[in-house]
Amino acid sequence: MSESSSICLACGLCCDGTLIGFVQLNPDEKPKLDGLFDENGIFLQPCKKYCNGCTIYEERPLQCGLFKCGLLKSVEQKEVTFDAAVESVKEIKLLKASIELELASLTIALDSKSFFYKILELKKLFNLNKIKPENMEDFVQLKLVMQKLDDLLLKEFDLTF
Ligand code: SF4
Ligand code: SF4
Repeated sequence: MSESSSICLACGLCCDGTLIGFVQLNPDEKPKLDGLFDENGIFLQPCKKYCNGCTIYEERPLQCGLFKCGLLKSVEQKEVTFDAAVESVKEIKLLKASIELELASLTIALDSKSFFYKILELKKLFNLNKIKPENMEDFVQLKLVMQKLDDLLLKEFDLTF
């Protein structure tokens, strides 16, 4: 197995609802992926076919096969070693865990199911100043960790929410 496949296997952040919200299928892919998508030809993350790696790797949608984050490209181009890439993935997962901890103690309930959409929902709330002043204190730490996540994603994965 190549290092690029291995880094994705060690990562999985595309598939588990962390960094991507949904996958769109091409019309000609639908017959072989029956049951995976909705009437619009999309499926939301976390992907039902993800279990410590893609369980339909050979049959995975085109969009999944084509997507390459900056970290994967850097490993492929040998600009980043496999071990350094694994460390970056670990760092993202730690920041995600910190954010989830903060989210668990929030005084507001978010509608979104996946981590990806929760972050988008939070950013919208912040941007629209929808947090009541008396609740702002609850969000200080959360905003700090979200900023760290943004910075690391942009720097190492060439991705943003
Ligand atoms: S985020 Fe990058 S390294 Fe992780 S699974 Fe997706 S493409 Fe692979
Ligand atoms: S089909 Fe496979 S590669 Fe695509 S999102 Fe699901 S688990 Fe990931």
